[in-house]
Amino acid sequence: MSSKTVVEKVPKVISERAEQVSVEQMPKPVKASVYDNVTKQFNKAADLMKLDRNIRKILATTMNEIVVHFPVKMDDGRIEIFTGYRVQHNNAQGPFKGGLRFHPDVDIDEVRALATWMTWKAAITQIPFGGAKGGIQFDPSEYSRTELERITRRFTFALGDTIGPEYDIPAPDVNTNPQIMAWILDTYISLRPPTRRQNDLHVVTGKPVEAGGSLGRDKATGQGVVYMIEEWAKDHKFDLKGATYIVQGFGNVGSWAARLMQLLGSKLIAVEDATGAIYSVRGLDAKHLAAHVRQKGGVAGYKIAEPIDHETFMRTKADIFIPAALENQITVETAPWLMVKLVAEGANGPTDPDGDEILQSRGIDLIPDILCNSGGVIVSYFEWLQNKRSESWELEEVDQKLHKKIISAYRRVRDTARDHQTDWRTAAYIVALCRLERVYKERGIFP
Ligand code: GLU
Repeated sequence: MSSKTVVEKVPKVISERAEQVSVEQMPKPVKASVYDNVTKQFNKAADLMKLDRNIRKILATTMNEIVVHFPVKMDDGRIEIFTGYRVQHNNAQGPFKGGLRFHPDVDIDEVRALATWMTWKAAITQIPFGGAKGGIQFDPSEYSRTELERITRRFTFALGDTIGPEYDIPAPDVNTNPQIMAWILDTYISLRPPTRRQNDLHVVTGKPVEAGGSLGRDKATGQGVVYMIEEWAKDHKFDLKGATYIVQGFGNVGSWAARLMQLLGSKLIAVEDATGAIYSVRGLDAKHLAAHVRQKGGVAGYKIAEPIDHETFMRTKADIFIPAALENQITVETAPWLMVKLVAEGANGPTDPDGDEILQSRGIDLIPDILCNSGGVIVSYFEWLQNKRSESWELEEVDQKLHKKIISAYRRVRDTARDHQTDWRTAAYIVALCRLERVYKERGIFP
């Protein structure tokens, strides 16, 4: 990984573009508001279930929003300033919980949306957590490993008591991994009194197993996605053996889901990530492709497949589409392209409200993110419990418990969709909002 600075990078990009188009002609990148999507989804469900007016006001707002700007020393001695976020949406059900994302698109709007989705996920799966999310706005691939470590540690220091094992517990998300969680843990406990250090391992989940992580956490989100697809297949008497699927994003979630689907006898025929898209009618070996991605940083250049463009990827005829990358991929433009029976959302927010309507009108089934990708936070909960009890569970036990929890959640959503005659995303929201409404009604509002 090379170490480039933002100062070096920006003029380079501008001069490259300037050769092609004049400044006036340059399209202004407009990033659609992800939080607007949350608001629309929330309002639809709240109207349908007639959510209490006052509780509606509480849940429509985040509780705390922390923005930190912090300096980090680069390998060459320069200082760079980074901007990090932690948004805590709600903690009525338990401590705030949710991942940390390292990506240039991280901003307050996105983090708000992601934090809110975490609250719904915990409520649907009935785990005792609230919702939060955070991240740093930068591209980690442009920094060395030692810089990444200092950025992570300095961010943890800047967050201070914003996080804590019984208060707000981060985890991996886009471009973060067990190594980064280990650095957060080490920084956090180093700042505690020596007598507290061993009691605070559960300040972060998704740790390496040796640092107190849980077996099965690494694959948990992908595993959960596959349990959801299996349950859908059972409900529809659909045979997954020989079924075809396509995957967008080949990071932790996409690559695990792809590998586990393959074990069921399904065939991976196309994959897209930030570097490009590939297709193979004979089927791609997910494990082999994952090794290529680890080495080359993306699917582009994978020799045993044909390169295709984005539209061709989205138009690939297959049984199942697993979006496992970023938000707003299935939209008014791209939803009409899809040629699949089921969309199983491994990513958070891959479908916007227009995309949702189009999928519904075209009769394409959808297992919504807040249910479909909840395997990650469910096993995070198991890791948190193991740390608190000084236990370490066998992989079979973790998998079994995950299966039980996520399948119960699936059934709650499926039955709610049937009872309210509504789509699955709205049903998932109704399940979450009913639970939170009960919590607030029982507790009341202080004072
Ligand atoms: N980042 C993951 C998610 O979006 C996992 C969160 C967690 O384990 O706390 O659900």
